[in-house]
Amino acid sequence: MKMRYLIVPLILIVLALSACTPAVAPPDPPPDPGPGPDPGPEPPPEFDFALYKPNELGEIPIWMYHNIKEPEDIWVRTPDNFRADLQRFYDLGYRLVTLTDVITNNISIPPGTSPIVLTFDDGNTNNFKLIKDAQGEIKVDPDCAVGILRDFAEKHPEMGSAATFFVHLPHPFSQSDSWYTGEWRTWKLEMLLEWGMEIGNHTLNHKHLKKDIKNLDQLLEQLGKPQQHLDNLIPGHKLNSLALPYGAKPAAEWLEYLHQGEYQGVSYRHDAILLVGSTPAKPFNHLDYSPLAMPRVRASNYPDGGAKDFLDKALERLEHTRYISDGDPDIITIPEEARSKLNEESLGEKELRVYDLTEENR
Ligand SMILES: [Zn+2]
Repeated sequence: MKMRYLIVPLILIVLALSACTPAVAPPDPPPDPGPGPDPGPEPPPEFDFALYKPNELGEIPIWMYHNIKEPEDIWVRTPDNFRADLQRFYDLGYRLVTLTDVITNNISIPPGTSPIVLTFDDGNTNNFKLIKDAQGEIKVDPDCAVGILRDFAEKHPEMGSAATFFVHLPHPFSQSDSWYTGEWRTWKLEMLLEWGMEIGNHTLNHKHLKKDIKNLDQLLEQLGKPQQHLDNLIPGHKLNSLALPYGAKPAAEWLEYLHQGEYQGVSYRHDAILLVGSTPAKPFNHLDYSPLAMPRVRASNYPDGGAKDFLDKALERLEHTRYISDGDPDIITIPEEARSKLNEESLGEKELRVYDLTEENR
């Protein structure tokens, strides 16, 4: 209150003076004394651990989808159910990140939110479909996976639209329409990348890598030929992930070729190999992180005999186990009780921050 009384008269005096003073040039200002001592950068605001409860050793669900169409079935999610999944993830505080974000330990989402990865296997047309409207204009089908993702991200920009599509090259999302030319096929791949989505390898033609493969050449063709095809479609772009058809691995002596190898002079390398598992994945700095055998959760609630409710059950589990971001990809923040699961050597340049909210340490 005192301040207010003081300021008001001063302003009045200044106004009164300026009103009576004739318009003359103001006197030169006093010489600039130069900058004072540098106060240095502002100290960062105190991080509110109790508010966000970050846990960057928590689990990350990698959701596995196949078809987006009617009606709901074992490997099918309807467009409306997929929309509802996105809304549910969003409302629960999940945000989309790419598989590459996970395997490069570069998760950049706001504090208090949790990362999820969406994957789509088999390159079904309903994952990324183009339609021709009444005016003859070609556009993305609003009911295909890409259309739904793009629409959701437009309404909820913080969600992002990251997803990985595990396709069979050279014909990803093949369409049979007469106007669907090779240019549209390449356009789809280019647009996926432009929209922050990823292309993953699902082998050349969905062979069962244990039952159908008779020799190493056949295996290398399944794994390496897709990269050869991609080199022709999008020169320079590398597939960095592989989803195993049926979750099947080749014979033990050939396992190393899942990760990297060479086919007809073209080398390939998968830094993430995805299984058809049923649990969320462990993150980069966790002792049990396993990029070459990453489990996925079926994004389905279809009642198909003992295998139903994958989605509900996983989300329930994740309420206690999920990765919660501190908002800074350069800092790894974990609660004290998670420390025994930390792989210290994996931290590299990252700063580690451990907090303890238990009663005696407050
Ligand atoms: Zn498949």
